[in-house]
Amino acid sequence: NGAATPTGSRSAGGDTEEEDKKPLSKAEQSLLQKVVRKGLIVNKNDIEVQRKDPNSPLFSVKTFEALHLKPDLLKGVYEMGFNAPSKIQETALPFLLANPPQNMIAQSQSGTGKTAAFVLAMLSKVDTSKHYPQVLCLSPTYELAVQTGEVAAKMARFCTDIDIRYAVRGEEVPRNTKLKEHIVIGTPGKVVDWATKYKFFDLSKITVFVLDEADVMIATQGHQDQSFRIHKQLSPNCQMMFFSATYDKDVLEFAEAIVPNPVIIRLKREEESLDNIKQYYVMCRSIEDKYNAISNIYGVVTIGQAMIFCDTRKTASWLSSKMTQDGHAVALLSGELTVDQRISVLDRFREGKEKVLITTNVLSRGIDVEQVTIVVNFDLPVDLQRRADCETYLHRIGRTGRFGKHGLAINLVDNDASMAVLKEIESHFGKKIYLLNTDDVDEIE
Ligand code: ADP
Repeated sequence: NGAATPTGSRSAGGDTEEEDKKPLSKAEQSLLQKVVRKGLIVNKNDIEVQRKDPNSPLFSVKTFEALHLKPDLLKGVYEMGFNAPSKIQETALPFLLANPPQNMIAQSQSGTGKTAAFVLAMLSKVDTSKHYPQVLCLSPTYELAVQTGEVAAKMARFCTDIDIRYAVRGEEVPRNTKLKEHIVIGTPGKVVDWATKYKFFDLSKITVFVLDEADVMIATQGHQDQSFRIHKQLSPNCQMMFFSATYDKDVLEFAEAIVPNPVIIRLKREEESLDNIKQYYVMCRSIEDKYNAISNIYGVVTIGQAMIFCDTRKTASWLSSKMTQDGHAVALLSGELTVDQRISVLDRFREGKEKVLITTNVLSRGIDVEQVTIVVNFDLPVDLQRRADCETYLHRIGRTGRFGKHGLAINLVDNDASMAVLKEIESHFGKKIYLLNTDDVDEIE
């Protein structure tokens, strides 16, 4: 069972200094997030359920048993360490597994259990007595398709009769072949080719269609049209599932064009806040002074880990080599790394192999490393006009209720301009940022 990991390589990052000012593409960000985050994000907001079908009962389950899954599938779920359904799963799964099938549009932030939900639904709906593709899942990129395939393979570990096939770049099928696998996971372009040009499988026989990462999909040129082309050939009885981390107008329009009579469920993102965060600043005269401040702070980071944000790739790499020379174990993540390299840096950091991660804006938002207790702004975040970028500040420093614990933010200020930025941030959030003397860092604990 399962799917062999396809061959092919991940794309490289850019290689100019300017790249670091550019945020990662949505697809890259989504991928990094998936790889870095190994656990579920627990969101305290309530799920909103909007139903288009007034006859369908609204219910939710508190256990996986209550879903009456095939025993081997339930075993796979438990083997993955899932004890109880996540918030989104509680609500989505009864609809997804219902008979007759229900269509769904679901939105919740990354890390809340969407993938696990639809993969479970996909695996439950396979009829293993039939040897052709019945379930089709579209992902925006090669890497994201592989991530989903890996979850499916894990969950289906004990369902040895379910076969999965990737339809992604690098995968070849001989002409005139008919696919026998039950599940196809692929990118839109490759799926269009396989299904319509080469007729390796029949879209009208698909009973479950999943569109994952819809917001990333529409951000990618051509994917939306290809998704429509695929969609047009599906049977009217095909169950449609549509998942997205965000839900703006574009996504909503796409969703409504794809999914007839959906149950719509939404879990709003928890707001980040600076509550429970102690904010300090350190007065420095030069970049060397900033370095000394960092060294002193490094000496007292006894619990958890620290992240240091620099303005440019040059500063980040300077700081990283200087700290390394001084015998500190630091990790460096900046824009010139390939996606593979970024993943491996983040993996090592998450495992605690390094206590400090130095980075540029590539990591300013979207990626949470939960064990980080100290965030240092080696350079304060500014926009293109060099004014305070309060939103980025909040993303770097802020926490949501899920972390509960206290955090510490340290801002290094080295001239009038950065002092002005600091003041702007202070007044924007209405929270005082205290002066810290790093010769006497004991006071921060
Ligand atoms: P999303 O698709 O919303 O980003 P995922 O399905 O990838 O979320 O889940 C995020 C993380 O939480 C993954 O590491 C996944 O293995 C884990 N996870 C998912 N569902 C559960 C659950 N019910 N219990 C524990 N962990 C879970």
